[in-house]
Amino acid sequence: MNKDVKEIIVTENDIDERCRELASEIEAYYSEKAEEPLVIGLLKGSVPFMAELIKRFSIPMEIDFMSVSSYSGTASTGDVKIDKDSDISCRGRSILIVEDIIDTGRTLKQVVQLFYDRGAKDVKIVALLDKKEGRVVEIEADYVGFDIPNAFVVGFGLDYNQKYRNLPYIGILKEEVYS
Ligand code: 5GP
Repeated sequence: MNKDVKEIIVTENDIDERCRELASEIEAYYSEKAEEPLVIGLLKGSVPFMAELIKRFSIPMEIDFMSVSSYSGTASTGDVKIDKDSDISCRGRSILIVEDIIDTGRTLKQVVQLFYDRGAKDVKIVALLDKKEGRVVEIEADYVGFDIPNAFVVGFGLDYNQKYRNLPYIGILKEEVYS
């Protein structure tokens, strides 16, 4: 275990198994609708999760990436800044957004609205982790890997100051690292 990690809360094995389950649930949804989803990963945190998930799909699909940062306007509203946009048109498409973690929900709320504003037909969210206690705006993922407590976690895509994304598990970062 990395010396800066206090506790592993989701193991590599847990992630592997859960990604198989999620992929089969998601695949069933798109197969039934006979839709080819456009799978959009939010950079950078979703990269390992997206790779793990899409290799389990046997349905036709396209992938792309977007990089967004959210910042608060007022306490109850957020806004999203697009740092890198998707290159593929989402008009009339079924979109599956892949996110590492939902906390306040501000980022995803804005991104989902953005896709609908751009003419997407259907927008679904899959998030590896959900910190329900952190929610500030009303939004839920359609598919969640793991519900986790309100602690700062790193690994499997999630960083602290751009580090720890390469850890193959999700762990709680020791407080002394960021305090
Ligand atoms: P929110 O749902 O608050 O708009 O934002 C979610 C984003 O906040 C995630 O994509 C991630 O970048 C960041 N985030 C929230 N909680 C954590 C956490 O526990 N660890 C890390 N590394 N990032 C987090």
